[in-house]
Amino acid sequence: MHARIKKRKRAKLNPLRRVRKKIVDIEPLNEPSTELPANKREFVSNRCSSLTKNGTRCKLHTLKGTKCWMHLMKEDNLRVKKSNLFPDNTKGNKNFGLFSGKKPFSKNQKIVPYSGLESSIPIQGDYILQTCENKWKDSYQSNNLAGFANECRKADKTAKKCKGNNLKFSENRRNITVNFVSTKNIQPSEELYVPYGRDYWKPL
Ligand SMILES: [Zn+2]
Repeated sequence: MHARIKKRKRAKLNPLRRVRKKIVDIEPLNEPSTELPANKREFVSNRCSSLTKNGTRCKLHTLKGTKCWMHLMKEDNLRVKKSNLFPDNTKGNKNFGLFSGKKPFSKNQKIVPYSGLESSIPIQGDYILQTCENKWKDSYQSNNLAGFANECRKADKTAKKCKGNNLKFSENRRNITVNFVSTKNIQPSEELYVPYGRDYWKPL
């Protein structure tokens, strides 16, 4: 596993890599398990981190990110809503998408940081991003909004579900941070898509 990642990394210059977890059959358990299936993202309710007009902390809670939807819209111009890629599907977390709020975004604007639990050893999961030679970020259980952004793949574009990706990964090598940056002007309430690269969709 480790060696294969390294081999691929050398083959391409782009250091950003999302590694998709190998899909394996899960053996049925005799006892009922309380653990979440490995492919289900865990949502934890958090109190909104923003302040209200009178300086007190907002009382609303959120399952997505660290701000309630109103503060997320007001402060970051972002929304998490049902993705346009899955119009008929209502179950599961993967149907959410990241959207612009009421205002547009211009090209080359920093949209959202890609944060997550950091690891210096290779880790696996659906939300892993390899940021450099020995750093991996996992946004699986973190309140990372960027993880809600889907990719507009060729098949989705052909099926007219989306018009193409409008974000890209942008890595700051000095402090090892990763942001999503707009690659075109984005209209209000437009779904945001980022190319995760072919490796993300290909089982290891
Ligand atoms: Zn709030």
